[in-house]
Amino acid sequence: MFENYEVWFVTGAQLLYGGDAVIAVDAHSNEMVNGLNESGRLPVKVVYKGTVNSSKEVTATFKAANNENKCIGVITWMHTFSPAKMWIHGLQELRKPLCHFHTQFNKEIPWDTMDMDFMNLNQSAHGDREFGHITARMRRPRKLVVGHWQDAAAQEKIAVWMRVAAAWADAQDMLIVRFGDQMNNVAVTDGDKVDAEMRLGYHVDYCPIAELAAYQNNVTEAEVDKLVETYKKEYAVAPADLGNEHFLKQIRNAAYAEIALRRLLKDKGAKAFTTNFDDLEGIDQLPGLASQRLMAEGYGFGAEGDWKTAALYRTMWFMGQGLPKGCSFLEDYTLNFDGEKSAILQAHMLEVCPLIAEQKPRLEVHPLGIGGKNDPARLVFTSKEGEGIAATIIDLGNRFRMIVNKVDCIKSKPLPKLPVASALWIPRPNFAVGAGAWILAGGTHHSSFSYDLTVEYLEDYAEIAGIEMLVIDENTTLTEFKKELRLNEVYYLLK
Ligand code: MN
Repeated sequence: MFENYEVWFVTGAQLLYGGDAVIAVDAHSNEMVNGLNESGRLPVKVVYKGTVNSSKEVTATFKAANNENKCIGVITWMHTFSPAKMWIHGLQELRKPLCHFHTQFNKEIPWDTMDMDFMNLNQSAHGDREFGHITARMRRPRKLVVGHWQDAAAQEKIAVWMRVAAAWADAQDMLIVRFGDQMNNVAVTDGDKVDAEMRLGYHVDYCPIAELAAYQNNVTEAEVDKLVETYKKEYAVAPADLGNEHFLKQIRNAAYAEIALRRLLKDKGAKAFTTNFDDLEGIDQLPGLASQRLMAEGYGFGAEGDWKTAALYRTMWFMGQGLPKGCSFLEDYTLNFDGEKSAILQAHMLEVCPLIAEQKPRLEVHPLGIGGKNDPARLVFTSKEGEGIAATIIDLGNRFRMIVNKVDCIKSKPLPKLPVASALWIPRPNFAVGAGAWILAGGTHHSSFSYDLTVEYLEDYAEIAGIEMLVIDENTTLTEFKKELRLNEVYYLLK
């Protein structure tokens, strides 16, 4: 989906240095943009939009960026000394994410040939500081990338920002469909949906479960036959289950719900949804298998009405498209105290995304001791080992706070009496500090987890959204974390 987007590259200069300089700046910019596009590291195409030499040109270019749907963000770079007052009006207009690239056309100083003409032309060292000043003065949210444009490290940072900017664009028309409300009395997954739309872009709509039941009534036997065959092909099924009437009936009922749900979401143009195990009138079972499979396709999901996590999952899935290890909705399930290896079992009653599975998922049917419906089908597996991030967004009343914890997934064990998919992780820096900081920050028991994304992605996201972000990683201490919580209270009161 990145191919539908483009990022604009705008070079800053001024006309002080004459026509030859203008031509050289343009030629260098073209070469840099071509080099970036040919690097193979950037997921989104960069389009050079020319050099701006005046306030009028900056403003016109940024207004055009606002109005071009394909444009998900703007990269600026100052080739010469571009006096930054000329950027004020344009920056006031710009509504797209901004990336300031502090780079330089030449990599090394041409010691033997450098003269004053060269210096008048190649002024990024001070031009980018002038631009940096005005973005700081205007408190303009931006990503700053520092490095030579041919260096992999700088290109990788731009790639991260591009994925985030694309996910941001995706969220601006995201519809989240909720079947039912929050689980009764639950505080942490609730929040201000008006503020969320103003701040984060997405829209949350209620949908009666009766509408899903009506869709289900229009699903044909032949469609179900076909999907059940897909299940049998994609997942491991116990030989005994293949002859078990109850199992076969329940996976058929699951297929009805999946086809109905996918169709309803498509018809509404929804990118995410939530369910509630207490609100399933007319549906045979909690649609666990459907939720698992739809998550793997990129639909955002939150259980028990958790629309914030549904939105965040969609956004994190979107950022990570094409990356190898996957992401999932997860819940802090139960603790394993084991000294330095103390860990948290991550699972849910059904809804864990198979993208994170380390082996072929098993398709199983078991009773669910909650909700009073028939036995649901679900995919059972344990997750891959490796590093990842768990993230959540909570509503503090006056603002949204994102909390991100670096975690290490370790080898999990089978749960013969608890047939759910699971991961087992040790939060960084360790269980006590990681879980402690998350709890002190007011974080949810639900999270959106990814192996592929790093803290940098969500840092870029929080910057674009203008929301608070707290990171819990190998450097976290509770003493410093508490200070950060207190300082942020003051900062956001004054903001
Ligand atoms: Mn839950």
